[in-house]
Amino acid sequence: MSAVKKSFFPILFFSFLNLTSFAVKSKIEKLEPAFWWVGMENPNLQLLVYGQNIGEYQATLDYPGVRLKVVNNVENQNYLFVDLFIDKSAKAGKFDITFTNQKGQELVYQYELKERRKNSAKRKGFDSSDVMYLLMPDRFANGNPENDSVDGLAEKVDRNNYDGRHGGDIQGIISKLDYLQDLGITALWNTPLLEDNEERGSYHTYAISDYYNVDARFGGNEAYLELSKECKKRGIKLIQDMVFNHCASAHWWMKDLPQNDWVHLHDEYTNSNHRKSTLLDPHAAKKDKIQFSDGWFDKSMPDLNQQNELLLTYLIQNSIWWVEYADLDGIRMDTHPYNDPQGMSKWGEALLKEYPYLNIVGETWYKNAADIAYWQKDALNADGYNSYLPCVMDFQLFFAMEKAFLEPQEWENGVVRLYKSLAADYLYKDINNILIFAENHDTQRIMTTLKGDINKFKLMNTFLMTTRGIPQIYAGIEILMEGKKSDGDGKMRIDFPGGWAGDERDAFTAEGRTDKENEAFNFLQKLLQWRKVNPVIHTGKLTHYIPENDVYVYFRSNDEKTVMVVINNGEKNQDLNLERFSENLKNFNKGYDILSEKAMNISEGELKLTGNSSVILELSK
Ligand code: CA
Repeated sequence: MSAVKKSFFPILFFSFLNLTSFAVKSKIEKLEPAFWWVGMENPNLQLLVYGQNIGEYQATLDYPGVRLKVVNNVENQNYLFVDLFIDKSAKAGKFDITFTNQKGQELVYQYELKERRKNSAKRKGFDSSDVMYLLMPDRFANGNPENDSVDGLAEKVDRNNYDGRHGGDIQGIISKLDYLQDLGITALWNTPLLEDNEERGSYHTYAISDYYNVDARFGGNEAYLELSKECKKRGIKLIQDMVFNHCASAHWWMKDLPQNDWVHLHDEYTNSNHRKSTLLDPHAAKKDKIQFSDGWFDKSMPDLNQQNELLLTYLIQNSIWWVEYADLDGIRMDTHPYNDPQGMSKWGEALLKEYPYLNIVGETWYKNAADIAYWQKDALNADGYNSYLPCVMDFQLFFAMEKAFLEPQEWENGVVRLYKSLAADYLYKDINNILIFAENHDTQRIMTTLKGDINKFKLMNTFLMTTRGIPQIYAGIEILMEGKKSDGDGKMRIDFPGGWAGDERDAFTAEGRTDKENEAFNFLQKLLQWRKVNPVIHTGKLTHYIPENDVYVYFRSNDEKTVMVVINNGEKNQDLNLERFSENLKNFNKGYDILSEKAMNISEGELKLTGNSSVILELSK
């Protein structure tokens, strides 16, 4: 930021010892977004300007193609909202915005309009050809111990405290990108990196105190740009985790809010009732809906009011700024339904107007597909609501996966859970644009649920990587990492072994992994590398058969290829009679199992299955 006090300068010079008078002089404390771009689809830009009594100033500028439309005052005189119009003819460059008050005092901010990256508007988001890797930066790898604690940010490093900051950072992630590429993932979702200046528990970074700056303990904005560049080099798509439902109580504007309705203020503390169903429920009482939406997620997380047009514009621009600045491939929106639904619809629409092929996934934590499907863009909702959210999270399938591999088959249990969950896909507008997962940073680690059983790990991953949707895995699954939800989140989210200098072992290397971990890593790697080059799994038609005797059989097919997946979730070896699947098998005689790397004859009408194992057959004549 480059605020220069032209007319105050001589006065300042002579009165530098008088700190009181220094403090009352106006200056531009914040101007956001600090810069923008020419050639955006939306020619409008609104600047938030913050400074003591800035509301008493008028703004002027003189730059070809840029017009100052209107300067908006709000009830707090320390804010101005300046509306600019940037014509298609405007060229990249710098110009002064001059703020003048009635006394003739001037404040000047040098604004910059940058050139966009080539094909920026046409960027293609993550999709079903990708496998997404989720990690928590504080718990993954510490690439720079120097930034573990930083002056000016409240919480200091304490690796002995489960709920404390452990020092992981962006440099650490960058140092492991080769590892991730080698594993075979193609998209990276890291939990938020923006500044979280809470005194305690800030490691998860879901209480954001500055929407334009990456936390210095993670390496700041420069490190984030570096991460983006290094991801691009390796064909890894970068997804930013955004949190608009709430900010941090430590956010700078909480000390001096622009407007009374910028956040939802209540006479006494009011928590959200967390009843996400109230938004969809045609019978819901207004009071319950309002408390769901306007109640706070947590005491340290003030609830932002996306019905406030100025705030909504701030958030929309903030998202566009990050996509453009950090060259993002996607967005993950935290606690999506907790935001104002109409506001978020406008947000999604605005983003897709700038970037028609960008992908955005919202956290849609509902147990039923009907509730989840409501939130997908263009859903045929009875109330006419359109979220403009292209991708949703399949929590229904998550809940099915938590149990399916642990139970023998019954009418509703065992692998039938997977079969039945997918049977609800008629509800979805786009069945390929759905994030599927067996765990994330908020759930119990799946390997704890599966009791560390590596055979179940293989079955689970076979399913996850071959069914429809966009698979998301969570850091450490490749080494069977466990973590119990009942131990508390901080304790469950353990550090990746080897991410810190001096760790007992380095599980990022084959030598540092146990035999069992290497078996898991190699299995997953084989599956991911194969999936990457097989479009039939990304978008091929899915046909599945009613499970029998703990065996779930399905096919993925397109014009080029047909793949048969057989998951034997039972303990016993069995001979699978193939007659039932002739609808999909009739044109084929041979199958090649990509897992065992063995050819299998399917023309004899039977397939020998080992207990608790799966095959993925590429079919041929
Ligand atoms: Ca660090």
